[in-house]
Amino acid sequence: MRSIVSAEDISYTYPQDENQASPAALEHVDIKIEKGEFVAVLGHNGSGKSTFAKHLNAILLPSGGAVYIDNMDTRDQSLLLAIRSRCGMVFQNPDNQLVATVVDEDVAFAPENMGLPPEEIRRRVDACLETVGMTEYRDRAPHMLSGGQKQRIAIAGVLAMEPSILVMDEPTAMLDPSGRREVMSAVLKLNREKGITVVLITHHMDEAAMAQRVIVMSRGKVALEGTPKEVFSKVDEIKSLSLLPPQTVELLWRLDKKGYSLPLDRLSVSECADTLEAFLKAKD
Ligand code: ADP
Ligand code: MG
Repeated sequence: MRSIVSAEDISYTYPQDENQASPAALEHVDIKIEKGEFVAVLGHNGSGKSTFAKHLNAILLPSGGAVYIDNMDTRDQSLLLAIRSRCGMVFQNPDNQLVATVVDEDVAFAPENMGLPPEEIRRRVDACLETVGMTEYRDRAPHMLSGGQKQRIAIAGVLAMEPSILVMDEPTAMLDPSGRREVMSAVLKLNREKGITVVLITHHMDEAAMAQRVIVMSRGKVALEGTPKEVFSKVDEIKSLSLLPPQTVELLWRLDKKGYSLPLDRLSVSECADTLEAFLKAKD
């Protein structure tokens, strides 16, 4: 039995790059994601994160290797609709994902296109707005909402297809800190309470730290992989991949470099503070 997301040794070169010396956007990438897992994907610009994401719902097809979503081969055209409703995508700019002039019509858009009966559409719209905490805004115009609210409506619109996997490509990149918090709390709820498998591409380390597993990409390949604690404690490697570790780890790492021997795998502010507290007490 395959993992719910199974990218098996995939490679991809953009068509216009084929005759040039440009490197492949993905090279022999092997990524398996289990049902219910929350995986964060990190990497500097151009490392292949979006190209990988687009392989998960058959926007792109691999030039080598294969991608299976819930055992469905993305190269099989007859499975396209099934794959796209199983694996929902959320992108960076919520404005590009909202289609209707009223919030609940927007959320109803996909189930309407799926030809579902009106009562089922209503049930889904109610449930999805509830999940992202936007029920009270259902009669509003999307363009009057904040960035975080719009992105939550975009997520609700994808959830209305009842996907088992949600792939999000930098969904908080255009949001302010409160919008980011709103979106991340909705994402955590979806994963923990609804059991939805989440693939979150982000450049925010604090968001990646919330995942169960972190994958770091570089030059179209997987460069590092492990739990957030495992990955972020490899500070030198993280820096060599042009990324910055969480500020908590950075602080502990700098102290460690100065000769104070400190553990680096303290990602949250409270864990970091406890570690420093214990360290100072021991010095007294
Ligand atoms: P990331 O999302 O990590 O920033 P991408 O997957 O967008 O990286 O890009 C990976 C590589 O593929 C980069 O070298 C980028 O320039 C190239 N690339 C991305 N999109 C296209 C495209 N539409 N056409 C040609 N090359 C592309
Ligand atoms: Mg990208």
